[in-house]
Amino acid sequence: MSTTIWPHLDELKGWRHDFHQHPETAFEEHRTSARVAELLRSWGLEVHEGLAGTGVVAVLRGARGEGPSIGLRADIDALHVTELNAVPHASQNPGRMHACGHDGHTTMLLGGARALASNPDFAGTVHFIFQPAEENEGGARAMIEDGLFKQFPMQAVYSMHNWPGLPVGTAAVHAGPVMAAFDVFSLTLTGKGCHAAMPHLGKDTLLAACQLVTQLPALISREQEVHKPAVLSVTSINGGDTFNVMPEQIKLRGTMRCFDMEQRARIEQRFRDAVAATATLHGLEVELDYRASYPATINTPEHAEVCAGVLTDLLGANSVRRDLPPSMASEDFAFMSQACPGVYIWMGNGEDSASLHNPKYDFNDRLLPLGVRYWVELTLGLLRDGKLPKA
Ligand SMILES: [Zn+2]
Ligand SMILES: [Zn+2]
Repeated sequence: MSTTIWPHLDELKGWRHDFHQHPETAFEEHRTSARVAELLRSWGLEVHEGLAGTGVVAVLRGARGEGPSIGLRADIDALHVTELNAVPHASQNPGRMHACGHDGHTTMLLGGARALASNPDFAGTVHFIFQPAEENEGGARAMIEDGLFKQFPMQAVYSMHNWPGLPVGTAAVHAGPVMAAFDVFSLTLTGKGCHAAMPHLGKDTLLAACQLVTQLPALISREQEVHKPAVLSVTSINGGDTFNVMPEQIKLRGTMRCFDMEQRARIEQRFRDAVAATATLHGLEVELDYRASYPATINTPEHAEVCAGVLTDLLGANSVRRDLPPSMASEDFAFMSQACPGVYIWMGNGEDSASLHNPKYDFNDRLLPLGVRYWVELTLGLLRDGKLPKA
């Protein structure tokens, strides 16, 4: 058996910094995706490009012959953020930035692919999934619609996210909900503009909008069982631009997050009721667009135990947190883990790391070799040591 070629830290950093310098946003990750495919091919993997446009899937078959099939997934897209870091590898694309660390996720999965391709000491098949457009645009759903699981059948799929606030060398595993479902809404209230000194001649959109801004978040505390987490935030209000005119139109936007699908449907219904009632009260027309965006990410418990075991061997028992509450942020890996058993873990990006989506965020290079080891040890645990839970 050949020995494993582990990518050197300098090599991993080189890939990561190159991705960081050239961030690309949803479905426009052409350079990133071409570089990923080129590296994978150079190590002899079977590479499929073009899933959901810029998605890449690489297939590696084990040297021990037939066996189960798994997927390892990284997201490759950046954000519409202007970088404020003064580092040599800072973004060269104005207004775009890897502020969520997907440059690091891509690099760690490439490192895992390289190590496993050099010594595929397992039975079965690994699919390395490089997914576009995680931020807002649902690239995971687009890959599935483009035939991800039909073209590449797999029994389970795994992913990870770097986690600011957790020390490097620690991880968190949830045996159940890990990331919330995500709805977005926008609504336009149309009344009758008038002189601010004669409001009785108009229909007041601004007063109605302000009532909604206070009423809608209160739906969570009044309509929901208190032990089920949910959050609703109105994030934008636009309308009016001077002292003495009541605006004809006001627009509101915001988001709702929760974990339970029945709860989600109920909140949406009560939201619609509240908006309609407020519009009637003030004699306004309302146009409402309430949309389910990502489902909740729910880890499959038996698979989560396998991941926690691999991480315990890698990092030590005290460095694998099992007690953290799930995040109210969302993740489109949910579409993949709805289609087959899945686990999404967090790996520490450092206690002093800027938060995700902050213009001073940077992926921590010290996490790179740990992520590579996790992918390799997880694969060997599942496909060599027989730890893959039975369906
Ligand atoms: Zn993000
Ligand atoms: Zn992210």
